[in-house]
Amino acid sequence: EFESVGFIGLGNMGSRMVHNLIKAGYKVAVHDINCNVLKKFSDMGVSTKETPFEVAEASDVVITMLPSSSHVFDVFTGPNGLLQGGNLLRPWLLIDSSTIDPQTSRKLSVTVSKCILKEKKDHWVNPVMLDAPVSGGVLAAEAGTLAFMVGGSEEAYLAAKPLLLSMGKNTIYCGKAGNGSAAKICNNLAMAVSMLGISEALALGQSLGIAASTLTRVFNSSSARCWSSDSYNPVPGVMEAAPSSRNYDGGFASKLMAKDLNLAAASAIDVGRKCPLTSQALEIYTELCQDGHEARDFSCVFRHYYSGMDE
Ligand code: NAD
Repeated sequence: EFESVGFIGLGNMGSRMVHNLIKAGYKVAVHDINCNVLKKFSDMGVSTKETPFEVAEASDVVITMLPSSSHVFDVFTGPNGLLQGGNLLRPWLLIDSSTIDPQTSRKLSVTVSKCILKEKKDHWVNPVMLDAPVSGGVLAAEAGTLAFMVGGSEEAYLAAKPLLLSMGKNTIYCGKAGNGSAAKICNNLAMAVSMLGISEALALGQSLGIAASTLTRVFNSSSARCWSSDSYNPVPGVMEAAPSSRNYDGGFASKLMAKDLNLAAASAIDVGRKCPLTSQALEIYTELCQDGHEARDFSCVFRHYYSGMDE
């Protein structure tokens, strides 16, 4: 249904997502502020554009995969941004897959819905925005197995689903605009707290004389079982495939966890909700980053915070 897809933000995630779009047969036009990255794509024969606005002019749908809220805001509303052409827009669908705060997603969705389509698409007169952040890191982006959590119009979500499934294997509709972003930051907040809980319990267990592997077996057949204990165990050697067993390399960087916890903390303040574990987790991950572990997988909290061990 969408012949031409625009993609903005060709970083760790975006570049891999674009490859899957191309594999699926979409005609893709891309943009990034990093000229070196852009050149790599033009060398591969992909159409590259100088500005987000030029991408919009060439596309039925545009996907953004940018670092944070301010970048997304700039790419949409800044000079030469997607909405530069006043309120007349070529793409009928704008999908933001960046992890940002739900407030920004909602604000942009309203702005987009006030624009008018250059050419009416089916019964759509106004363009639509979906917030569709992803779960799964660089490996899932590469393998095309991301999970998308989507907020915005349900009809637009259903129309976008085949496109999303060319980059992922799951999509979950979360409700109104901003709910995809809300789901993403709540998921990562719960993941951070469960990782801290498991790390703290395993560290205490070790001090009390129980081997981490034994305690893990207990957790995994008892009520403490969770993803952090049974799939992503933070203690080196307990689980071969986990980042903890390869010196916390790869995986999900502590700095990205700190970023997501910041979003959760800011959202909690925004809605006046008390979230003491969010504040505590944010403090711990901020400290880890300041101590030089920002690029390590977030399960390194076990070694560098609880066990107090360095390099
Ligand atoms: P990244 O920093 O590797 O890539 C971001 C890209 O955006 C860069 O190439 C950068 O040059 C480009 N960019 C920045 N500002 C721009 C602008 N104004 N115009 C055009 N391009 C611009 O980040 P990433 O790891 O690909 O993550 C992207 C998003 O996905 C983030 O919001 C992140 O939180 C989220 N996310 C990342 C992971 C992960 O494991 N890396 C997992 C899930 C979600």
